[in-house]
Amino acid sequence: MSASITERLRAGTVLGAEGYVFELERRGYIKAGPFVPEVVLDYPDAVRELHREFLRAGAEVMVALTYYAHREKLRDVGREGDLEAMNRRAVRIAREVAREGGALVAGNVCNTWAYDPEDPTTRETVRAMYAEQLGWAAEEGVDFVISETNDYLGEALIALEVIQELGLPAMVTLAPTQPHLTRDGYEYADACRILAAEGALVVGLNCDRGPRTMVPLIAKIRDTVECAVAVQPVPYRTDAIAPTMETLLSPKGERAFPIALDPFTCTRFDMARFALRARELGVDYIGICCGAGPHHVRAMAEALGREVPASRYSPSIELHPMFRADVSAKDAAFLPSWNA
Ligand SMILES: [Zn+2]
Repeated sequence: MSASITERLRAGTVLGAEGYVFELERRGYIKAGPFVPEVVLDYPDAVRELHREFLRAGAEVMVALTYYAHREKLRDVGREGDLEAMNRRAVRIAREVAREGGALVAGNVCNTWAYDPEDPTTRETVRAMYAEQLGWAAEEGVDFVISETNDYLGEALIALEVIQELGLPAMVTLAPTQPHLTRDGYEYADACRILAAEGALVVGLNCDRGPRTMVPLIAKIRDTVECAVAVQPVPYRTDAIAPTMETLLSPKGERAFPIALDPFTCTRFDMARFALRARELGVDYIGICCGAGPHHVRAMAEALGREVPASRYSPSIELHPMFRADVSAKDAAFLPSWNA
């Protein structure tokens, strides 16, 4: 049996990997816009393969692809009838691949877009959505649950309650879209402190910000809470002017989010540096979100000192015909044009 999330956190850094929706969209299996994971039912092999790629790259957690697989979102694409099948199948696929490499399986819920702090009736709508999704996840067998991209502390607390009612460990992370505050007006660090006090095993931030603009916020959270902290930035070069991926603009001033972000993508080296920085800060669960590719995850794993299955094919650039010490006379003739 593989170690539990609690045991792994106690033993050291846990490496996570997400970004399934963006990656499967790029591969032609998810529609940008609604971003509903229909792929789980329509092309399960595509989901299985991406899990496997992240597993080989060193991810210790297979996150079931149930992001946006909730009633509200499925209604948008006319697939409400597939809700249960989609949720159950996603967990089964994640579990199947997790077993291949001793990884854990996380159930997954996210912001619902149904929550309104001004309207108390929405609390019950949200609770019912989480209860059905996570009820199925628990029945299919998850090791813990990740509640993520929470805009509101209020909505995150509902998720936490539902996770606890199911007797599962909870990792709850906020989406830092605003400079300092959740949509319901809590400083991120304060919101994390409250989530920890309510019993979350892991608290932190995920999505929206790239490493550069995520790190200062997570440092503050690390200083504020005693429990384990998670950080899963997007691999995009956000900065002081455009602190989130939603605010990044092309040179022509067009919004790059969500499907023209490519020129802002972090290299594997950027993400490796980020992983080291996060560990230095004392972050316990280090991962990556929308935009991630397996090459990022492997670089992060290796930066943390791990050799993973995909390390077998890690770069040996010195063996490239043009970069090796003994470039042949014939190939050396190319060098001037390579260096121009
Ligand atoms: Zn994300």
